[in-house]
Amino acid sequence: MPTDQAEAVVLRTSNIGDQDKIAVFFCREKGVLRGVAKGARKFGNRFGSSLEPMSVVHVFYYEKERRELVTVSGCDLIESFFEIQAEPETAFLLTYFAELIEEFAPARAREEVLYRLLLSVLRCLKGGGDREFTAAYFEAWFLQSNGLLPDLSGCRNCRKPLVASWLALKKDGAYCPDCTPVRKDEIPPAIQGFLRWIRKNPPAGGCAPPFPPGEMAAIRRSLQAMIVYHMEREPRSLQFLKTK
Ligand SMILES: [Zn+2]
Repeated sequence: MPTDQAEAVVLRTSNIGDQDKIAVFFCREKGVLRGVAKGARKFGNRFGSSLEPMSVVHVFYYEKERRELVTVSGCDLIESFFEIQAEPETAFLLTYFAELIEEFAPARAREEVLYRLLLSVLRCLKGGGDREFTAAYFEAWFLQSNGLLPDLSGCRNCRKPLVASWLALKKDGAYCPDCTPVRKDEIPPAIQGFLRWIRKNPPAGGCAPPFPPGEMAAIRRSLQAMIVYHMEREPRSLQFLKTK
């Protein structure tokens, strides 16, 4: 049987049968790929720690016609992000990233920007980057790479530059105080500077983020309102993050 291979990040695994796992991979060139790893729960199995969530791996697999799941024949660990997940808040956050990618990334389609984004935020967190800032960085670029980040530089209606503003109902723009039909999702003025910053910079590992925590929380609320709208539900992992 011909074997394919891909560089991928393991998004999650679940148990199936007595000894096997289903693994969901996010491949650099092939998007989301789901496969069965036979024997992955046996003691001393050949997969070792390569199927831990967020492991960067070389996955070898083959597919049978008309089956949604491929068969994973091998998985070599390239880079591990196991240790940063000892902190529950980081582990939850990574589950949230994985849920968004699995929900939005089309199966078997190249998603290079999103793949590089995931790698960069993982490395940032591993390097001691601020969790809230890294989360906002991911959320904003995630929206941008899916074409879902609206132009927030001017009012949708009168094009005036925005200071105080509210998100449009369909999250496809913002309105100034004179034009807004509803005052529900207020957008913090700091979001403009934040979006300019992230377009020019990689996520800030190690050093202090260039925005204060209060601003980050408000910026994340706006970004999450857009994500929830387009996902048509609140991500399960986000509900969990909020109830902590
Ligand atoms: Zn206006």
